[in-house]
Amino acid sequence: MASIERHDYDVVVIGAGGAGLRAAIAAAEEGARTALVCKSLLGKAHTVMAEGGVAAALGNVAPDDNWRVHFQDTMFGGKYLNNWHMAELHAKEAPDRVRELEQWGGVFDRTPDRKMSQRAFGGHTHRRLVHIGDRTGLELLRTLQDKAVHSGIDVFMECTITRLLKEGERVCGAVGYRRADGNFVTFGSGALVLATGGAGKCWRITSNSWECTGDGYGLAFGAGADLIDMEFVQFHPTGMVWPPGVVGLLVTEAVRGEGGILRNSTGERFMERYDPKRLELSTRDVVARAIFTEVKEGRGSPHGGVFLDVSHLPADTVRRKLPSMYDQFMELAGVDITRGPMEVGPTCHYFMGGIRVNAETGASSVPGLFATGECSGGMNGANRLGGNSLSDLLVFGRRAGQGAAHDAADRGAPQLDDAQIEDAIGEMTRYRSGPGTEDPYALHAELQATMQSDVGIFRDEAGLSDAVEHLDGLARRAASVRAAVAKREYNPGWHLCRDLQNMLIVSRAVARAALLRHESRGAHSRLDFPAYDDYWSEHNVVVCKDGDGVRLEPQPVPKTRDLIPLVEQRKEAERT
Ligand SMILES: Cc1cc2nc3c(=O)[nH]c(=O)nc-3n(C[C@H](O)[C@H](O)[C@H](O)COP(=O)(O)OP(=O)(O)OC[C@H]3O[C@@H](n4cnc5c(N)ncnc54)[C@H](O)[C@@H]3O)c2cc1C
Repeated sequence: MASIERHDYDVVVIGAGGAGLRAAIAAAEEGARTALVCKSLLGKAHTVMAEGGVAAALGNVAPDDNWRVHFQDTMFGGKYLNNWHMAELHAKEAPDRVRELEQWGGVFDRTPDRKMSQRAFGGHTHRRLVHIGDRTGLELLRTLQDKAVHSGIDVFMECTITRLLKEGERVCGAVGYRRADGNFVTFGSGALVLATGGAGKCWRITSNSWECTGDGYGLAFGAGADLIDMEFVQFHPTGMVWPPGVVGLLVTEAVRGEGGILRNSTGERFMERYDPKRLELSTRDVVARAIFTEVKEGRGSPHGGVFLDVSHLPADTVRRKLPSMYDQFMELAGVDITRGPMEVGPTCHYFMGGIRVNAETGASSVPGLFATGECSGGMNGANRLGGNSLSDLLVFGRRAGQGAAHDAADRGAPQLDDAQIEDAIGEMTRYRSGPGTEDPYALHAELQATMQSDVGIFRDEAGLSDAVEHLDGLARRAASVRAAVAKREYNPGWHLCRDLQNMLIVSRAVARAALLRHESRGAHSRLDFPAYDDYWSEHNVVVCKDGDGVRLEPQPVPKTRDLIPLVEQRKEAERT
């Protein structure tokens, strides 16, 4: 092992999206020697694609807004399965995290009196999303990146982590490979933070970038950490449905926030039937199901979606408020959205579930291992409100970085176990030059087809059981995948062999948790159990490692006594 590149840090953060950057900044501020490791180039993480805004109850344009209303909206959106304390911390701390971004140089759209402007979004009672046009993720990432590079953090770009290393029960480092030359690298860490984002690539139609293969879930689960709420996968209501090369590409909720209207092929504003109170600004789960139903019942648009129209708004408002959407439709579909409607349909978008963490510190159930951002679970319950991810990254990224730095304090460089490193390297080497015959691309396509057809917006016992069986078969076959080309340098087929193992862990967890939850709630809609269930309204599904197998445990939703009046008040308001 002497010849393998090795680096030692107090805190190693895996992932350089909003969550990883914010965690690394916080760890460095606590005095920890900090490394940031990412699969792509710095600045290219999936967060860069975020469009609509960051949710924070600043009250700049809606003076009645405050953390309590934001907390209630988040709980209502999550159908009360959220970790209450996480939702509380998120609502309370998001305004400070956004102001801090501004102090670090973030430039956001302004109100006439020079405050940060805030826009409406589905499920938010008030206009709450701080934004810059429809390119908020770019500005958020640029600002965090500027701050990070001036915080003395070492960055390892284009480096994919394939295995976490343990010393007894504690995570003490990681093994990865450099994408450019295929060389292996090891990290020793006092504490390690996973900030690896979501797993949309398990579905055929998705808004997610190539990086979203669920690596963090797979790495954490492999190390013994619990996953929570995996059955809740958000299908954003509005992705592009045409032309074929861009199917799934997101059409931001800001389009509806700015006044976009949804119509079916008869010209009907169909949301009047599904949520007459909130219409297009209903929560994402409701709008996605409505669109799916309209299409299924024969009232869809020519390319299998519905129409989303902003052409009644002044053309210069559309170009100013939604510049990316204007360019996206003009360049990719030849549609001028200031003159005619877009065609849109649901696309797999976001994981509410993820690694189970402590609300205060981001600590997972395994010592030395922390998680934050989309790869962690609990904050959003059964459904996430738009804008609550970027604020989640800021609030809990900072907390996880601090938590890891405190945990790592005064720990010396760990003893890395050669046998574990050899095993991790042996696995990767097998994918290039072993005896395997399975094609990783073919298996990925089968996995996506299964998830798309049987673990999508609407689910039932038969489809989910088929999916579990099919995924088990794919997992057996994935043990003998091998890349068609054996080269080490930038070899996507080789990389996919490993990504596939993570996507299988994620997909099997999602399908099994979905099979267990006998009710419909938030993003989880069972045709055979269409109503809420009293037992499940009080329980999260926790996916635990059990030897080489998996155990699913329903566990009571973590509640906070002081918050009961706020929750009851909101439930009562919804009943009347
Ligand atoms: C088109 C689009 C628009 C969106 N708009 C909004 C919005 O307006 N508001 C909002 O709140 N949310 C929005 N979201 C959701 C939000 O952008 C994401 O949930 C969020 O950016 C996730 O951030 P993250 O830091 O957790 O992960 P990511 O940004 O996905 O970053 C993950 C990082 O982990 C790295 N990584 C992954 N695996 C490995 C590995 N094995 N080894 C090393 N590195 C690894 C990646 O390289 C990357 O650096 C949007 C999402 C999409 C797709």
